[in-house]
Amino acid sequence: MSYFYHIPPSAAPIYLRDIFNGLIGFFQIKDYLHKFRKELEEYFQTKNVFLVSSGRAALTAILQALSRIDGNINKNEVIIPAYTCYSVPAAVIKAGFKVKLCDIDPNTLDFDYSLLKDEITEQTLAVVPCNLFGIPSDIERLKQVVTGSEIFIVDDAAQAMGASIDNKLAGSRGDLGLFSLDRGKNFTTVEGGIIITNRDDVAEEIKKILHNIEEYNKISQFLLLIKAMIISILIRPYLYWIPANLPVLGLGETRYSTQFEIRRMSNVQGGLAWNWLNKLKIFNEIRKRNAAYYRQTFSRLNKFKILEKSEATYHRYPISLRIEEVNMDGATRLGISKMYPGSIDHIPDFKSQQENSYPVATEVSRKLFCLPTHPYLNKSSRQKLVQQLQKVEESCKGTN
Ligand SMILES: *Cc1c(COP(=O)(O)O)cnc(C)c1O
Repeated sequence: MSYFYHIPPSAAPIYLRDIFNGLIGFFQIKDYLHKFRKELEEYFQTKNVFLVSSGRAALTAILQALSRIDGNINKNEVIIPAYTCYSVPAAVIKAGFKVKLCDIDPNTLDFDYSLLKDEITEQTLAVVPCNLFGIPSDIERLKQVVTGSEIFIVDDAAQAMGASIDNKLAGSRGDLGLFSLDRGKNFTTVEGGIIITNRDDVAEEIKKILHNIEEYNKISQFLLLIKAMIISILIRPYLYWIPANLPVLGLGETRYSTQFEIRRMSNVQGGLAWNWLNKLKIFNEIRKRNAAYYRQTFSRLNKFKILEKSEATYHRYPISLRIEEVNMDGATRLGISKMYPGSIDHIPDFKSQQENSYPVATEVSRKLFCLPTHPYLNKSSRQKLVQQLQKVEESCKGTN
């Protein structure tokens, strides 16, 4: 494959029409935020929708609101999976809480529910299942584990917008749900976050919190539009080598940081989202089709189980390679990449407090790779990718 062809590991197209609507949003000609909120209420069958600047911001605001609900003053712990996006622990810390980790199940990449009950204490404020890769978490099981205690379930569907189980949408199955509209997610508004909840008491607190935060000023709104244009062009495989080779952009790097802004979403992002439901449906169909193809093609690479009656959306397709270090040179340009560099207990900020007691999360973080499923993956590059992986699979045989 040519050097000048580089498949991004994940991507959600932004079209010229979206940018045009973003521009209309910039000049406040239409109230796109109102439209977006109404459509989300309808789609998720939810009473309250809040639009913010990122998934992290959404989770931070949610947790801050939960602690303000009567009776929660002394609760200061939030349970999250030991293998998940680094933004999750970052939001917990930013909101002023302690991160409690729970190891994961290697087959489902969800919590190991048999371990979860040992992590629950009087101090537990909330549990955050993460629906990784758009695979719905087992929230029914989680409800059984927390039953009888006032613990909130925050359904983090940042990677799972449109995924469902028994026709119930991911994100709508807990007390609150959140989504991310960042570049690599199911669809994007450059950056953005959504909170949904049917709990009016919590909604009231979130409203108060968001009332006091800053809005995007005109300059940062304009920058969002510029970024939308740049992403819309450079995300294509025949141009993606340009940003991929600019180290300053740090594409594909996962860094832990609590230095992020919490803002209300701007009307520019509302404009970029004008046709979101159609885009979401089309993109997710394509992703599911690519995932189904991978599942059929790889007989020996591990397959992760999904729950009965569930529809996973696979914003990336996870595979597990059986050896610790695989030479994946050249694979980067095919969009094959690691998901996270390590489990949460390997982030320096969390290291000292928790010794290596999350063996599954650690193991998964070493072996799990992702394949691209997005709409810019065409048949011939998918073919090349499969060939490359079959070679890797062959070379692994006998090593482990
Ligand atoms: C991406 C992601 C987030 C954070 O979303 P941002 O918009 O990037 O802040 C939170 N949780 C999970 C599981 C994610 O994948």
